[in-house]
Amino acid sequence: MSKTRVLIIEDEKDILRLLKYNLEKEGYQVVSATDGASGLAAAQKEKPDLLILDLMLPKLDGMEVCRTLRQESRVPILMLTAKKQEVDRILGLELGADDYVTKPFSIRELLARVKTILRRSQRPSPETGTGKFGDLRFDAERYTVSVKGKPVSLGTKEFAFLKILLEANGKALTRDQLLEKVWGYDRSMDIDTRTIDQHITRLRDKLGSEAKRVVTVKNVGYRFETQ
Ligand code: CA
Repeated sequence: MSKTRVLIIEDEKDILRLLKYNLEKEGYQVVSATDGASGLAAAQKEKPDLLILDLMLPKLDGMEVCRTLRQESRVPILMLTAKKQEVDRILGLELGADDYVTKPFSIRELLARVKTILRRSQRPSPETGTGKFGDLRFDAERYTVSVKGKPVSLGTKEFAFLKILLEANGKALTRDQLLEKVWGYDRSMDIDTRTIDQHITRLRDKLGSEAKRVVTVKNVGYRFETQ
């Protein structure tokens, strides 16, 4: 339903086939293009979650595609290159690709890179304030949360809890830390730490199939499972 979508722009048919087969086997939804111009158009239209981009392409080369896309989008880009000497440019500010793999590559290595890049990009960052974790989508700017594409209506505090847990990036937060961050710790307000447990329970109820990501850490507090 909410599969991660990968766009591959690669003119070598064998490599394209190999990538498509393996990515689909891993559960990704794959779209592809075999030249730079149609690849760029596909990237703009399809808005993939990740782009695998070959450097040497007919019509428009990978460098140009990357440069153009970077001006309008933050889509993670994994470059494929046969030329090791191009790596500095690829990853540099000029092009701003996220990572690269040199040809010939091992498919396992490539899949591992794909996972790492996606994990990094799906993490909510202060910059984007958005993230995707399994079927859960979080967008801090729009104040929206959805599970399996269906909007989840969270109260202000529940939303704040989720945001703070996400920002901790997998680390456990104590109940005191949560109190401090959500209410702006003030003992005079005399908020019981059990209040936190009640909010967490409600949050879990609303997250449905993704509730398991809000993990209780015994004698400590809570953490959010990002994996
Ligand atoms: Ca090529």
